[in-house]
Amino acid sequence: MARTLIRGGTVVTASETMAADVLVDGERVVAVGSDLGGQAERIIDAGGRLVMPGGIDVHTHMEMPFGGTFSVDDFATGTAAAAWGGTTTIVDFAVPEQGESLQSAAQRWHEKAAPKAHVDYGFHMIVRDVNEQTLADMDSLVDQGITSFKLFMAYPGVFMVDDASLFRAMSRSSENGALIMLHAENGGPIDVLIQRYLAEGRTDPVNHGLTRPASMEGEATHRAIALAKLAGVAVYIVHLSSADALNAVREARDAGTAALAETCPQYLFLSVDDLARPGFEGAKYVCSPPLRPKAHQAELWNGLRSDDLQLVATDHCPFDFKEQKQMGLGNFAKIPNGLPGVEDRYTLLYDGGVRSGQIGLNRFVELVATAPAKLFGLYPRKGTIAPGSDADIVVFDPETERVLSASTHHMNVDYSCYEGRGVRGVPEVVLQRGQVLVDHGKLLAQPGQGQFLARSRSGL
Ligand SMILES: [Zn+2]
Repeated sequence: MARTLIRGGTVVTASETMAADVLVDGERVVAVGSDLGGQAERIIDAGGRLVMPGGIDVHTHMEMPFGGTFSVDDFATGTAAAAWGGTTTIVDFAVPEQGESLQSAAQRWHEKAAPKAHVDYGFHMIVRDVNEQTLADMDSLVDQGITSFKLFMAYPGVFMVDDASLFRAMSRSSENGALIMLHAENGGPIDVLIQRYLAEGRTDPVNHGLTRPASMEGEATHRAIALAKLAGVAVYIVHLSSADALNAVREARDAGTAALAETCPQYLFLSVDDLARPGFEGAKYVCSPPLRPKAHQAELWNGLRSDDLQLVATDHCPFDFKEQKQMGLGNFAKIPNGLPGVEDRYTLLYDGGVRSGQIGLNRFVELVATAPAKLFGLYPRKGTIAPGSDADIVVFDPETERVLSASTHHMNVDYSCYEGRGVRGVPEVVLQRGQVLVDHGKLLAQPGQGQFLARSRSGL
């Protein structure tokens, strides 16, 4: 394979910003520095551009079953949209059916992803029953590169597990080295509130948010961390949305406990005001945990700056407004939970984070690429630009203005949460393992060229 020189840009990693060329040979970066010209067959001009690691989104749900339907992006459309948006690796959640073995679910996810993926991918495994068989399956999946497992403290009767089960899974992870990830909302009282609201005729989308108060996320986060501490393991809170939950994480970290958490762009840029949009529009913003009052946003930015929040993932789980979200007309509890986001994370965090002065450029790279790689066993192969690393690289145009819209995005969903929002920044050329996936708005990647990543145990 030809050598490629990315010339004249500003290379940005989690720790450095420097004017440098990047030389790629085959699938790997071989040199970062000056005077590398003359050694390459292909030149990419990066003058005036930022040259940054490909994004890693560790929270996606492609073709995920939910309430009798499926999220509308499969591994083909979802990973193509990821590539367009500067994300070159996803870690998707494999979901066992009720009673299905974890091994069987992993096999199904391999079969779904392998022929379709445009970018590299790994899997987390969801655990819905903790028993001797699933605990044994956890051990073998860790050996097969599926090194993280998600359990739910919400959705009683569907996914929720009790504290004893959580504790058993955490205790097992102290032996097999897996990372336990938790959806931390206290599903019991939330379900009582949902039934009460529906009985009172409060059926509009905004009630989805009102029945899932931040206090119940804070409570579950606090409990999760206490259980993990008892088991002697780290715990990772997915899609942290509120100051209440952040406070629990911060308190634990300040006391030296290994609590980790991600947040998502929707909690940084959207709020319960969107959920309260008139008519049925709010259904477009139904996800769990729900969008919070705006005051939480500043707290989450604080958490990202102070490293109480380690990274930003999307929880990409798109459902069409027509026919899917509309299943919840007259009953907010029937609105499929989830938002599209995999394509927009990189630029939104750059525009709304770096350009707006919330975070620095190196912290941006850390949040979207380096920390996800480290926490999920992909570093240093992924998540940085350095000799020996995979040449997963975004040549990012930081100046061009554009407008986010369903009419121009590539996700297979009929609306955008950010419709009409102006942003600056475009992933102009996106490379994965030295191959150009996207070149100035043209998709060159082929379905099936993404590879499964057998991940190591968490590096933190
Ligand atoms: Zn999710």
